[in-house]
Parts: sequence; C-alpha cells; structure tokens
Amino acid sequence: MNDNNFAGNAKSAIDFLGNEWKYDCMGCAISKGEIKIPGGIIYEGKYTILGADPEIPIPGFLIVNVKKHVNSFSQLDKEERNEIGDVIAYAQKALKELNIVKEVTLVQEERSKHLHIWIFPNYNWMTEKFGKGVTYLRDISEYAQKNANKDDIKMVLDVIEKVKKYFEEHNINE
Ligand SMILES: [Zn+2]
Repeated sequence: MNDNNFAGNAKSAIDFLGNEWKYDCMGCAISKGEIKIPGGIIYEGKYTILGADPEIPIPGFLIVNVKKHVNSFSQLDKEERNEIGDVIAYAQKALKELNIVKEVTLVQEERSKHLHIWIFPNYNWMTEKFGKGVTYLRDISEYAQKNANKDDIKMVLDVIEKVKKYFEEHNINE
C-alpha cells in the first residue's frame, strides 16, 4: 500500500466494493458526501461522520472523520472535541455490546492532512498472524485488502448495519 494512501493523503482510492474515487482531500470529500463510504454513513453528527474505512475490509474497522479540514485536535474547540469523544465512546460500546470485537486500537496521525481517527478492531487472527500492537496495523490492513473474499466483505457490511442500528437506538449525548 502506498504510504500516502495509508495516511489518507492520496488523491484517489478504490474502495473495497471496487468503486474508484478521486478528490483533493478524502476527508473533505467524505464530509461533503462526494464519496459514498461503503455501507453508508453509520452516524452523522454536527462535526463528525462515522463510517467504515473505505479501503480496508475488516469487520468493525471504523473511521471517525471530522468535517472540518484540520489535522490536529489542537485546532478544534471544546464542542467539537466533545462530539468526537462521544462518537468514539459509542462506537467502542457498539463493537463490544454487539460482540463484534473485545478490544480496539485508536490511531490518529497529524501527518494525515485531514483529521480522522481510526477505530481498529483487534481480532485473534491478527495477533496470531502478525502480532499485537500499532506496529502491525499496516501489515494487517494490507493483508485484509489483498485477501478479503466475498464472505468477508459481506461480514464487513453486516457489521456496519448492526453498528448503524446501535447508533439509531442510542443517544450519544447521554
Ligand atoms: Zn480535508
């Protein structure tokens, strides 16, 4: 995988359903609805959009995309930071309560020009195949991208539907 793609700084992408997207900034294109995230938007708040990672088909791999084009939490105000915290907390609750995954890893890199947070699920097969921790996320992502079959994609889409429903049934401001 190209490093620019991994950081979300590329100018185009092919999502895991095979659609090709071109844009100046992927985060802005998602915010404006110019990119249709595979499986659709899970939750849209005032400042954020929660959806699956468009390129990497792993069930429960979610991205909190901040609508504003900034690259750091330090450029957000309190209300924006609060919403991001609530969205992350409820995404984690959903993944756990729906028994999708017991543990996730959060990642945010300022080298990515548009602020987004990875909610990366940790499955046993990942630990067995690659090891545990941030170091392996890239290898795991590449592996999933290359090896996902139709059933895997279906599972990713099923999980998206379940998490969507969870967000419909819960008030994240509570
Ligand atoms: Zn942007």
